[in-house]
Amino acid sequence: MRLDDADLRRRLEAARLDALSAADLRARFVADADVAANAPAGQQARDPRDGTVILYNEVRARRPHDNRPAEAAARAERPCAICAGQTTGIVDVAPLDEGFTFINKNLYPALFPHAAAADGVASGLHFLQWSSTVHDHDWHNLPQADRVTLLRRLAALERVLLQDGAAEAGAAPWPDGRPLRGYLGIFKNYGYLVGGSLAHGHQQMV
Ligand SMILES: [Zn+2]
Repeated sequence: MRLDDADLRRRLEAARLDALSAADLRARFVADADVAANAPAGQQARDPRDGTVILYNEVRARRPHDNRPAEAAARAERPCAICAGQTTGIVDVAPLDEGFTFINKNLYPALFPHAAAADGVASGLHFLQWSSTVHDHDWHNLPQADRVTLLRRLAALERVLLQDGAAEAGAAPWPDGRPLRGYLGIFKNYGYLVGGSLAHGHQQMV
């Protein structure tokens, strides 16, 4: 099972994100009616134990799941949404030994680029990187060269977001004097126990 190359092309908004700016990427979230419909209110809180910021989006409870053990038996007959081409607009594609890896907008974003964000309202972007268009290809079974490609595309996203974005108002600069333009967190949930909702291999960038 894999995402068809023609379906991938149909969803393509940009072939390479290096040519885009952070403002471009923000505008694409706002202009995407499907993503905007699931935008979080920007609710956030701090964990009193260590100050970690916790983001909420109630809409994420409505995400489709195909990764629970009870559903595993039925999974064979149920098509994977990603392989079926049900993805949001894609902003980056890179070829792998077999198939492609791509980055798209999260349909259920934990962060949204709220305009004129009020005090205490979290604002940002939430992307997904699909390790491969081939359904069961992921870090553990991709060739080393493909894993390097995945990391390079993550680095390209980080570069666009953090070097080109607007400086954070009132934030202290980095120790070497560069202005702080925000934070990028990359994480991978594997399996339903840690919240992974889709079995098709992916990681998230917030
Ligand atoms: Zn799939």
